[in-house]
Amino acid sequence: ADAVAAMLERLEADRIKFIRLQFSDLQGQPKNVAIPAIQAEKALTDGISFDGSSIEGFARIEESDMVLKPDISTYTILPWRKGESNVARFICDVYRPNGKPFEGDPRYVLKKVCAEAAEMGYTFNTGPELEFFLFKMIDGRPSTEFQDVGGYFDLAPTDLAENVRRDIVLALTDMGFEIEASHHEVAESQHEIDFKYADALKTADNVVTFKFATKTIALINGLHATFMAKPIFGINGSGMHTNCSLFKDGKNAFYDPEAPLQLSETALNFIGGVLKHVRGITRIANPTINSYKRLVPGYEAPVYISWSASNRTALCRVPAPRGNSTRVELRSPDPTCNPYLTFAAILAAGMDGVKNGIAPPPSADRNIFHLSDEERKAAGIDTLPGTLMESNAALLGDELLCSTLGSHVVENLDRIAMMEWDAFRTMIHPWEVEQYLSKF
Ligand code: GLN
Ligand code: MG
Ligand code: MG
Ligand code: MG
Repeated sequence: ADAVAAMLERLEADRIKFIRLQFSDLQGQPKNVAIPAIQAEKALTDGISFDGSSIEGFARIEESDMVLKPDISTYTILPWRKGESNVARFICDVYRPNGKPFEGDPRYVLKKVCAEAAEMGYTFNTGPELEFFLFKMIDGRPSTEFQDVGGYFDLAPTDLAENVRRDIVLALTDMGFEIEASHHEVAESQHEIDFKYADALKTADNVVTFKFATKTIALINGLHATFMAKPIFGINGSGMHTNCSLFKDGKNAFYDPEAPLQLSETALNFIGGVLKHVRGITRIANPTINSYKRLVPGYEAPVYISWSASNRTALCRVPAPRGNSTRVELRSPDPTCNPYLTFAAILAAGMDGVKNGIAPPPSADRNIFHLSDEERKAAGIDTLPGTLMESNAALLGDELLCSTLGSHVVENLDRIAMMEWDAFRTMIHPWEVEQYLSKF
C-alpha cells in the first residue's frame, strides 16, 4: 500500500496524464493498453482487465478474461512524448480473474525458472548484444534500402544513421538504461547498441523496451529499424549474442582463479547443459523461418555445436574478462526471439548442467568452419537445426525444456511453427522462378 501511495505521488509529480500498461505476447511482441492517469490507483491495486483472446498464444475465446498488474519497478516515462503532460509505462504481469498467474505469460515463465535457480542460491544475469539494420522508408513504407554503407566500427560523421543511433542511445539513457557501447556493425546499415547486464527478468524487460524504443526513434527520423534475423542475402544477419553468468552470494560463480582457464566447475557444467539442450533452445532463440537463413557458414553466426574460450566461431564462447565479468556468450539467439522464453530456456538448460554435473565436450579452439565434415564428425561436433521445423521437433523432444515452458506455451509454439512453416513451404519463392521458369 505504501509503494502504491508513493507511486501515485510520483505520477502526479511527473505530470503523468496517460499510463501504458505493457506486456508481451508469446512471440515477444509488446502489447499495451493506455489508461488515463485517473485510473492509476485501480490499476496499481486491483489491476486492469482485458480480453486475452486476441493476443497471440494467449487464450481461447471461452476463457479469455485476464488481468494486467503493473510491476511498479518498471516505471518509466516515454521520452519521445515528454512535454506539458507525460506518458508513463509499466510492464505488467498477466493474471487470470481468479488471481492465479497466467501460465502463457512469458514473464511468468521466466520468473518461475529464476525462482528455482534462486532456491539454490543463484541469480542468473544476462547481457544481450542486439544488432539491427536501419533501412530507408520509401513512400511511407519500410524498405530494404541501405541508409549507409559503413562497416564494422566505421565513423560516418555526417551520416543520418549515426545521428539516429545517438538519439536512440539518448532515449534509452533517459529510460534508465546504462549504455555500454554503440557502434556500426559489419554489414551496411547494420548497428549494435549494448547495455549493461542485469538479472534475466530485468534484462528481458529491457530487450522489449530496447526494440520498441529503437523502432520509435528510427521512425521519428524517417528510418525503419528492423530486428529481422537475416534481411539481406549475402551479408551478415543480426544476432542477439547473450552473455550469461550465475552469481551466488554476490560473487560470480563462473569464476575460479585456481581452475584451468579460471573457469569454475559451475561454468563448465552450465556450458555442458546449454550445449546438451541447444537444439531445443534454438526453437525459442531463433523462432522465425528467416532465423535459419542467418545460421549458415560465412557470416559470423554459429552453425556447429561447440564451445571455446578462444575462438569466435564457437556457439558458446567465453570472452576474455574474468573475475566478476566472467561469462559465457551464447551466440545463436537472434533479436526476433522472445527474450523471456529465451532466457528461461537457457537458464533451465544451464541449471540441468549444474545440478547433474554435465561436463561439456572438449573445447573447439580452432576455426571449426575450416574443418571438413569428416573432421567435425570425428570430433563429435553436431550442428544446430537447419530449419524451424527441425528446431520445433527438437523442442518437442526435449522433456526438460517442455516442462520448463509448460504445456500451454509449448502447444502454442508448436501451432505457430506449423502455421508459419505451412505458409512458407507452399509459397513460390523468387529463387524457384529464376531456376525453373526458363529451364523447364
Ligand atoms: N552479426 C553476427 C551474427 O549474426 C555477429 C557479428 C559480430 O558481432 N561480430 O551473430
Ligand atoms: Mg558485440
Ligand atoms: Mg555484434
Ligand atoms: Mg558478441
